[in-house]
Amino acid sequence: MAGIYVYSDQSRITAELISFARQTGAAAFALCFSIEQAKAIKDFGADKVYVLQGGSPLVENYGRAVADFLKSQGADLFLVGATARGRDIASRVAGHSDCGMVSDVSSVSWTEGRVSCERLMYGGAVIQEELLSGFCVVSIPAGKFEAETGESSEIVVVEVEADNRVILVDTAPIVREGADLSAADKVICVGLGIEKEEDLQLAKDLADVLGAEIGCTRGISEERHWLPVEKYIGISGAAIKPQLYISMGVSGQVQHVVGIRESKIIVAVDTNEKAPIFRAADYGIVGDLYEIIPLLTRALKKDL
Ligand SMILES: Cc1cc2nc3c(=O)[nH]c(=O)nc-3n(C[C@H](O)[C@H](O)[C@H](O)COP(=O)(O)OP(=O)(O)OC[C@H]3O[C@@H](n4cnc5c(N)ncnc54)[C@H](O)[C@@H]3O)c2cc1C
Repeated sequence: MAGIYVYSDQSRITAELISFARQTGAAAFALCFSIEQAKAIKDFGADKVYVLQGGSPLVENYGRAVADFLKSQGADLFLVGATARGRDIASRVAGHSDCGMVSDVSSVSWTEGRVSCERLMYGGAVIQEELLSGFCVVSIPAGKFEAETGESSEIVVVEVEADNRVILVDTAPIVREGADLSAADKVICVGLGIEKEEDLQLAKDLADVLGAEIGCTRGISEERHWLPVEKYIGISGAAIKPQLYISMGVSGQVQHVVGIRESKIIVAVDTNEKAPIFRAADYGIVGDLYEIIPLLTRALKKDL
């Protein structure tokens, strides 16, 4: 059946993609690869949830099966959550479908067979608009649309043939610290302005008072290795949209700022009054973080 088909290995992103598809007025269908996944996403308002069963536990083995299924359905568009697994299946489906694909878009709109996407180029310095017509594949990072619940969907199981050339040998859990930043309500972001690893405690104290998560710039995790990589925010890290974002010692280069643009309130503390972060900030404090952050923590402790 014609319409917009969506897939993500994360239920929350599936909900966001279904909600976007519904807003376009098109029929919205969700794909998944197990009954468990289908049950987890059946209340997000899709017209149907299709479970593609081919006997493989690896989503990447379903590239051709998904492409063939979407073709047989006459799908208009395939939206995929831009997670590691989503990006993999998205490119395979586009390849097997011999169609256009746009990756990691910052915005997308669809009207009757025409897709318009925006994506950041050159480290976020340029926004490129891409227009596609006919069936195509678009991958979308988490947090671009509001997730909604809806009517419970019919679950339809479809037997397909998976490509079993890749087999699963073993699995091991990824150990993550703290909550998912993209879903955090408040974020304290640490930049290279902090001098020593133990000074992270300043951010932790403030985060404790506010009930916030800690994030950072890329250098803090990738150069200094003081926080795990899933904690850095920006074009190549997490995109966040908290109610409150407070930075300390973050200069605000464009590659970082694209990841915080959708924050409701941005507060920046930096010694350099010309730091670009102040152009993105709603409230700016020009000052030494070693002086300001403890003051802020103490004041909030008194008031909260
Ligand atoms: C392709 C590409 C992708 C990238 N992707 C990302 C990304 O996803 N995320 C990301 O964060 N970066 C990314 N970067 C790196 C980015 O360009 C910046 O280099 C980085 O964001 C800067 O981090 P920073 O603000 O912590 O450090 P700096 O730019 O060094 O800024 C440190 C700030 O601390 C201030 N400061 C110093 N001492 C104090 C003090 N005592 N009190 C208060 N303020 C103080 C300084 O005035 C300065 O403004 C990317 C770069 C490239 C090329």
